Amino acid sequence: MDAKIRLYVDHPLGEGKTVLLERPQAHYLFGVMRLGKGAAVLLFNGRDGEWLAEVTEVSKRGGVLTCQVQTAPQQMPPDLWLIFAPIKKARTDFIVEKAVEMGARRIVPVQTDFTNAGRIQRERLQAHAVEAAEQCGGTFVPEVTDMARLDRMLTDWNPQRQIMFCDEALAGDASKASPLSNMQKGQPWAILIGPEGGFSAAERDRFGSLAQAHPVPLGPRILRADTAAVAALTVWQQALGDWA
Ligand code: SAM
Repeated sequence: MDAKIRLYVDHPLGEGKTVLLERPQAHYLFGVMRLGKGAAVLLFNGRDGEWLAEVTEVSKRGGVLTCQVQTAPQQMPPDLWLIFAPIKKARTDFIVEKAVEMGARRIVPVQTDFTNAGRIQRERLQAHAVEAAEQCGGTFVPEVTDMARLDRMLTDWNPQRQIMFCDEALAGDASKASPLSNMQKGQPWAILIGPEGGFSAAERDRFGSLAQAHPVPLGPRILRADTAAVAALTVWQQALGDWA
């Protein structure tokens, strides 16, 4: 069986286990992709790896898939959070999509002093994360959290979690270029990306007094926040993540 479609489902997966499809999934598989009985689909649920499944019942309102063999083990990304100040809708969508592809464990939109987007649609962003995981071959979907306030989040900060504080004020400062290369692998981390307006002086003072915050420049030019998110994920994954 040759399966081209990967689908995230919120059901336990294992040999012989059946998955009852919800209406939108049935519509997508049978209405849009025109699959019929006997067709193959790849399934993952973020816990049990990837499974080859066969369509065993087709209906307009539902349908059933039956798991056959595991095609990939569960693979968790490193314990890395991407914390970012949301920007315009399409660029925020881009950040979520890229964070999934690059291997973040959690995606955390935050309100900073100069954040210009007041609200996010968490469920829409979570659906984007699911689509990105389906598309990139990952077996894990990071949670997109509700928008939190950065200052409050730092008050309860887990002292074990290090912060890669992407500081535009250091752009071009080569002497600060690689604090990550001296760090041990395997620790929990968070990457912090600011809004279009950058970080405020008060926020900078706060990071300065936080032992877990490591200011890092991302080259000599000021990057847009969405570019900075991808660049930071690349630098971190290369130094401390699952790329090497
Ligand atoms: N308006 C700010 C300025 O001109 O200084 C730029 C903010 S930038 C568009 C948005 C975020 O991307 C920054 O808060 C920072 O986290 C990150 N960023 C952009 N360029 C960077 C660089 N060269 N080094 C470190 N972080 C950078």
